Amino acid sequence: MAHRASPMPAPPLDPTTLGDLLRVASAPDYTRWEDQIRRAGGCSDPIHLTGWTLHKDRTTGETLHHYTTADEPGGRLRLACGNRRASRCPSCAWTYAGDTYHLIRAGLAGDDCRDVPITVRDHPRVFATLTAPSFGPVHNRPDRGACRCGAQHALDASELGTALDPATYDYAGAVLFNNHAGQLWQRFTTRLRRELAARAGLTRRELADRLRVSYGKVAEFQKRGALHFHAVIRLDGPEGPGTPPPAWATVDLLADAIHAAAAHSYTSVSVPSVGDQPTRSFRWGTQLDVRPVKAFGDGSDITEQAVASYVAKYSTKAAENTGTLDRRIGELAELDRHQVPDHTRRLITACRDLDSLYPDRRLWAWAHMLGFRGHFSSKSRRYSTTLGTLRQARADYRATQEATALGLDAREPDTVLVLTDWQYTGHGHTPGESALAASIARDLQLNRETAREALQDQLALEGAAA
Ligand SMILES: [Zn+2]
Ligand SMILES: [Zn+2]
Repeated sequence: MAHRASPMPAPPLDPTTLGDLLRVASAPDYTRWEDQIRRAGGCSDPIHLTGWTLHKDRTTGETLHHYTTADEPGGRLRLACGNRRASRCPSCAWTYAGDTYHLIRAGLAGDDCRDVPITVRDHPRVFATLTAPSFGPVHNRPDRGACRCGAQHALDASELGTALDPATYDYAGAVLFNNHAGQLWQRFTTRLRRELAARAGLTRRELADRLRVSYGKVAEFQKRGALHFHAVIRLDGPEGPGTPPPAWATVDLLADAIHAAAAHSYTSVSVPSVGDQPTRSFRWGTQLDVRPVKAFGDGSDITEQAVASYVAKYSTKAAENTGTLDRRIGELAELDRHQVPDHTRRLITACRDLDSLYPDRRLWAWAHMLGFRGHFSSKSRRYSTTLGTLRQARADYRATQEATALGLDAREPDTVLVLTDWQYTGHGHTPGESALAASIARDLQLNRETAREALQDQLALEGAAA
């Protein structure tokens, strides 16, 4: 039985919040408000909509159902904000992490729907970490001995990852690397296909007829503010996950091709010299970790379960562990108000200083991401189901529930005309609503943890039986 963390304790309420909370809780439509927030997963910053939907019979013009937000609490419908960042909305981040977990695990173990059959477990799969190069020495905790500064830093020391010598550290290079990391990944995947073709004695065109490379990846910021990518890379047959890869496509061959592709000179991105900035050519760092993914661990390999958990965990974090802000920066003075650490402040300042030199790179707009402007998690088309599909499934489920309640699902779909008109009218909570929503979110989280534990117990049983 897995250990269950106790739910987060509720923070103490100030008298103003308490007064507002009692106002909300004693309102006659409180249960309807609570229902909205529960449906929104306890979202801390829900989107407010006003509007209506009208179901009409196409033939007779008869109104079958009319829904309007005029009857809802405050005349509004509140929907989940859907933010993936735990620092912005913990409950929506939970939903996002759960979806990402499902997406990555589906690509490794298959899922119940037609997209990914369980035979993908027999395909070669690895979990690879591609790191950033060095931009200058940083304070660290070496396996033996002390940091180059002479100190033995504690595990949580704030100096870790910061420049040993800020005067010579290449902050500009660091943010330009983050900014170009997506392109470097593209070059890497192109080169990987060539390396695979070369190992099989095939042209790239011949390779495409026999094999397909699929991946799902997530970006993570190291403490020094440099981006690295964790990726599940899988080899499929020519038609994707439903077809077996050729016999010569082994895990060892895939791992070997990844190492060669990452190190190849093609896998680089050149940034021209502008102003006082030199010409730069970005490559991956020399640290490259490639590990086979096994269905069930025997202790030596990483398991599907572990990979999916790891990726899901990082999917809800942006660059927050570097102390940067979790939203766009309007002016540098905001960094003082939020006590952004010096190393991160220098990276953000570099984004501002370079913005006019590389205007098409939009470095200042992405300064809060230390220059990175790509997607935090992304995947190739055939890796598994998509987040959009998962959200659609969830929305369809709700719509079906409502339609069933109305008896509308018994009708042929094309006999019903649906008219809608929605307007965005704002977002968020009052202080009392916020405290209540947090309590609903804690409640839902506890339910999710209980459900996940049951799943883990079931997987452990499957593992033992395998
Ligand atoms: Zn939310
Ligand atoms: Zn040090």
